[in-house]
Amino acid sequence: MLETVQPLRLAPGLSSQLLALAREAYPREVCGVLLAPADAGEHASIDSVCALPNRARDAGVCFEIAAADLARAGQGARRRGQAIQGFFHSHPDGDARPSPADLAGCPPWDGYAQLIVSLPIGRGPEIRAYGVAPHGWFDRPLIGD
Ligand SMILES: [Zn+2]
Repeated sequence: MLETVQPLRLAPGLSSQLLALAREAYPREVCGVLLAPADAGEHASIDSVCALPNRARDAGVCFEIAAADLARAGQGARRRGQAIQGFFHSHPDGDARPSPADLAGCPPWDGYAQLIVSLPIGRGPEIRAYGVAPHGWFDRPLIGD
């Protein structure tokens, strides 16, 4: 199946907000949802993000979003005319590539965007975007400041 890979667009200021959330949560992984206007379609720009509690027992190396937290985030988004377009999480000391836990523990996230914010020791922070397909995660260009 050949499919055009769509870039993920972030509204101005969101990259810095994501980095700030990752730094606040350090040394735990931060996680949350990426939101866009509901009427703008599947490839809308992300115009805000919402951090959710990381319920993983080992929150330094993985993250877990509870179904109830996600449902609440979805309801809040709908009230504001937004839709959940994807998810973000941080890698406090790793790089911005999906970890074995990300790839193995993937809930049914097909079609959702994934953002990983990394704060590697001794290097600058990095944000990378991915898509999730049945065969795994694939790189998506990231557009934003
Ligand atoms: Zn991860």
